[in-house]
Amino acid sequence: MQRLVSGIQPTGKMHLGNWLGAVQNWVRLQSEYEAFFFIADLHSLTTIYQDPSQLRQSKIDLAMDLLAAGIDPERACLFFQSDVPAHSELHVILSMITPLPWLERVPTYKDKIDEIREKDLNTYGFLGYPVLQAADILIYKAAAVPVGRDQLPHLELTREIARRFNHLYRPIFPEPGDQITEFQMLPGLDGRKMSKSYGNTIPLSASVDDVSRLMKTMLTDPARVRRTDPGNPDVCPVYAYHRIFNTTERCAEVASDCRSAAIGCVACKQDCADRINAQLEPVRERRAGITEPRVMEILDAGAKRARAVAAVTLGEVRGAVGL
Ligand code: SF4
Repeated sequence: MQRLVSGIQPTGKMHLGNWLGAVQNWVRLQSEYEAFFFIADLHSLTTIYQDPSQLRQSKIDLAMDLLAAGIDPERACLFFQSDVPAHSELHVILSMITPLPWLERVPTYKDKIDEIREKDLNTYGFLGYPVLQAADILIYKAAAVPVGRDQLPHLELTREIARRFNHLYRPIFPEPGDQITEFQMLPGLDGRKMSKSYGNTIPLSASVDDVSRLMKTMLTDPARVRRTDPGNPDVCPVYAYHRIFNTTERCAEVASDCRSAAIGCVACKQDCADRINAQLEPVRERRAGITEPRVMEILDAGAKRARAVAAVTLGEVRGAVGL
């Protein structure tokens, strides 16, 4: 089996957007690859270094969410990034050979600095986080990395760093291929992209009642003011949910009933909440069977497996660079 590596930052509870966007893909890929999935706690320090007080709990919550979502520790290796120190050591070594302009031209670097103005991101760690990402991937000699299209420049940088290392010393790193993830864009409760920073999320751990309650607050077609007004499902975020969570036949009925005002928004939202709840049922069942001590046991075993693989690569790298 080819090796696949991917990480996720512990920036709060997983929401339905994360679940549909990345984690359902991980669950599928764990049967097709030898998968290494890590919770990127070191990466999260690049933006939360001023207040890491929630980090420990966020890491555990995320691990619980991943297991509830269907990550199977019998197939995939799940661990905390910081529990495998070889990521950090390889990061330092790769930092030595990475030209500064390669990092300064990464498109997301300047975008993020502009976007997250409330935090001071003018740090060495933030500029260098694509090198840490390269280390995360190369330490396992991964053949494939699942990425969204916006992450492709980072993966290309990883390939450039691998080429440079192989050219300077000896060929140790294969160039990782991309496994492009076509994200299903899920709007948040206010119609913008679902994001914890907008406070518009539905958590994966939401109860049946929570899902119904949150759906009730969701934005609809703003032009549909009265129950008797016909609506336009094409501009309604609730309908975007129907398209993801409901059957094609039911979606066609909802669209037609919305346009003719045969259905009201309250009933339409409840129908949608019922569909979401039905799909979350297996997630809830798995979550009920997982305790925090069991999560820690799984993460410890995952880190042990990952450390053994990473140690082999690091041994080769140390030899190549004369350490
Ligand atoms: S009936 Fe449904 S699709 Fe139509 S506007 Fe209301 S919530 Fe949106």
